Amino acid sequence: MKTSYHVHSVYSDGENSILEIVTAASEQGLDEIGLSDHLVYPKANRSVPWSMSLDAIDSYFEELCEAQCVVGDKLRVRFGLECDYEPETADLLADVLARCPLDYVIGSVHFLDDFPIDESADYWERLDEDNRNLVARSYWQRIKELAQSRLFDIVGHLDLYKKFGWKPSIDLTEEIAEALDAIAAARMVVEVNTAGLTKPAREIYPSPEILDMCRVRDIPVIITADAHNVSGLTYGYEEARNLVQARGWLGTVLFSKRKFELLPQL
Ligand SMILES: [Zn+2]
Ligand SMILES: [Zn+2]
Repeated sequence: MKTSYHVHSVYSDGENSILEIVTAASEQGLDEIGLSDHLVYPKANRSVPWSMSLDAIDSYFEELCEAQCVVGDKLRVRFGLECDYEPETADLLADVLARCPLDYVIGSVHFLDDFPIDESADYWERLDEDNRNLVARSYWQRIKELAQSRLFDIVGHLDLYKKFGWKPSIDLTEEIAEALDAIAAARMVVEVNTAGLTKPAREIYPSPEILDMCRVRDIPVIITADAHNVSGLTYGYEEARNLVQARGWLGTVLFSKRKFELLPQL
């Protein structure tokens, strides 16, 4: 079963229209395609150019419905969003999500108190080692809160802070364990996101060590590419599948109306 559930269209920072993506997924023989454009709930003091606006939500879902009609029975189109968890906007985001016809929501942390984790290496270069470690520690605390919020179905690109090739120089095992305990308690799925392979990190999100910690907690996984164009829909899929298999998973999941079904095979 080959799916691609982490995909961005022109509604956020992707290069292709929804119809182009769905058509390409059908041509590429995928079993399911899920769109997950960014929705970062707006805050007065910050603009996020790569997020769709609240005004665009209705037409986003309309276009997804139209694309499903065009492609017909050949391919199932799943309706998703990638949303940022931020404590200040969590209740407002919950109201928006409650009225969307969603199959799944990816919960991500791209900002820690307005520090943009994955925007540019420059932000990290301005921090000394202690402050970088502090960001990484806070990141796991925020992931734990993300899971406890029960707003999301899939947790996006765990260990995103390694994107620019840096890793914490302190032991965060305890913080990571607490976050993963919360993810397991929330019955969330962890994505195995191949986008890290194309970044200085040169590694799938999350690392094999963190995947092992997911495995012992029986957290399901789904392979995603965080694609921003049609040529990247299954980028790194085989490498991810080998990794997941080697770490002990036998199957994956499919989502429908915010519930997942466990599949016995990858
Ligand atoms: Zn993301
Ligand atoms: Zn994404």
